[in-house]
Amino acid sequence: MAITILKGDITGQRVDAIVNAANSSLMGGGGVDGAIHRAGGPAILDECRALRASKYGRGLPTGQAVATTAGRLDARWVIHTVGPVYSADEDRSALLASCYRESLRVAGELGAASVAFPAVSAGVYGWSAESAAQIAVDTVRASGTEVDDIRFVLFNDEVYAAFEREMG
Ligand code: ADP
Repeated sequence: MAITILKGDITGQRVDAIVNAANSSLMGGGGVDGAIHRAGGPAILDECRALRASKYGRGLPTGQAVATTAGRLDARWVIHTVGPVYSADEDRSALLASCYRESLRVAGELGAASVAFPAVSAGVYGWSAESAAQIAVDTVRASGTEVDDIRFVLFNDEVYAAFEREMG
């Protein structure tokens, strides 16, 4: 298993699966979620709607992951995961770690050999770059995943620098 970090837009990655930092509604949003739906087209939202109607009527719970088509993206699947909103009062690290573990579990079930992750919860959900990077790298390293190419694709210089430090 190789882990790499890259700077840039995750929607340009050619991989088996692109992970989306979704919100529990699965109905799209801002940040990387908006970028993935824009670049992938309406087929992704169609499948998200179907998932809401069938399995996730109350939304996808925080820390879980589910796959859809990748539409027009150069990938086979988008794996949607819901990161926790940062809280100063409560340690939600386990939920953020769960996003990475569950995304890799879903990727493994699909037979994905390569997966690109954004920095889940490091944007609007308020996690510090440092803490988001530490949880992401530690969890992926410890995962025992069968996925052999894992990339963190970081959009923002501060977040990229934090992942670079964490990778050592
Ligand atoms: P969250 O709500 O989980 O915090 P955001 O989308 O707000 O999700 O931010 C998560 C991270 O994704 C942030 O570091 C943000 O800079 C980054 N990001 C935004 N757009 C893209 C993109 N097109 N490719 C990769 N990362 C992106």
